[in-house]
Amino acid sequence: MRYIEVKIYTTQEGIDPLTCILMDMGIAGFAIEDARDFQDLMNKKNSYDWDYIDDSMMELAHIPTSITFYLSETEECDSILEQLQKKLDVLKSEDRIDYGKLECIQKPVDDADWKDNWKEYFKPTKVTERIVIKPTWEEYTSTADEVVIEIDPGMAFGTGTHPTTSLCIKLLERFIEPEEDMILDVGCGSGILAIAAALLGAKGVLAVDIDPIAVTVSKENVELNHLSAKVRVIEGDLTKGLKERADIVVANLMADLVMILSKDVPAHLKGKNIYISSGILIEKQEQVVAAIEECGFHILEILEEGEWCAIAAQI
Ligand code: SAH
Repeated sequence: MRYIEVKIYTTQEGIDPLTCILMDMGIAGFAIEDARDFQDLMNKKNSYDWDYIDDSMMELAHIPTSITFYLSETEECDSILEQLQKKLDVLKSEDRIDYGKLECIQKPVDDADWKDNWKEYFKPTKVTERIVIKPTWEEYTSTADEVVIEIDPGMAFGTGTHPTTSLCIKLLERFIEPEEDMILDVGCGSGILAIAAALLGAKGVLAVDIDPIAVTVSKENVELNHLSAKVRVIEGDLTKGLKERADIVVANLMADLVMILSKDVPAHLKGKNIYISSGILIEKQEQVVAAIEECGFHILEILEEGEWCAIAAQI
C-alpha cells in the first residue's frame, strides 16, 4: 500500500499544540522525534533500563524536533494536506508560542519498504554443527543429522542470529541430556531457545515472558515446529508467583537483569541445577560472574562471540 509521509519541523514547545491540531483533524497516530527524549533515555531510571546503545543511535542526541505521520494515498489526501497547510500558516503568524520553522515535508512511501525489509537479512543460519535456524519464509534442505528450528519472530526478539541467542543454543546443546531434562526458558521472546531445547531432546520445556506479544509469538512458533506437546508457554515473571523447577534454567536477558534475577534462579532449579545466562556484554562479564557466584553457583563454562558472552553455572 502507498502512503504519504508528512514531517513537520517544529520546536519542543510546538509539539503539544501541533499534536492537538492533528488529533482534531482525525490524525491520531504520529511519531515525535525530540532530542530531549533521547536525553531522558540516556539518564536511565533503573540500572537495567538498557545496557547497550548502538553508536548509530547517538545521532538522535542532535536530531531536529519534528512530528511525522502517514496518510494513505486516497482522494482525501490532498484536501487534508491543504487544510493542514492553512492551519500551519495561521500558527506561523502567531507569536504567543515559538513554533520554529513549521516546515512541512511530504514524501511518498510504500509500506513494503519497512514492513518486510528486515526479512531480507534473516536467512537460514547454522548455529552449531547440528542446529539450523530457518525463517519460515525461506527454503532449506537439511541433512539427516541436522535439527531445523522454524522461526517467525514477528514483533518479538529472537531470530537466533544475535550472538547472545546462538551462544545460549550452543550451551543448551552442550548440557541437555535427551529425554532427561526439564528446561525453564526465562524471557522466551520468539520462543527460539525453548524450541531449540525441545528439538535437542529435552523432556519438557516451560517458556515464560512478561511481554504478552512474546507469549503469542512463542506459542505460534511452538506450533509451527509441532512441539505443543513438549513446550508450554506462559505469561509470567520469574520473580513473581512462578513455582516450576527445571534441570536447566536459561535466561537471555541483559547483564543488569541477569544479576537481579539470578537470586531467584536457585528456587527454580532441581536435579542437575544448571543456569545458563546471556545478554551480557563482555565488559560486564566479571561483574555478572561475581553476582552469580554470590547466589551459590560455580561457573562451568563461558562462551564469547563479538562483544557478547554467555555463562553456564551450576549449584
Ligand atoms: N530468549 C530469546 C529472547 C530474549 S529477549 C532469545 O534468546 O533470543 C529477552 C526477553 O525477556 C524479552 O522478550 C522480555 O520481554 C523478557 N523478560 C524481561 N524480563 C523478564 C522477567 N523478569 N521475566 C520473564 N521475562 C522477562
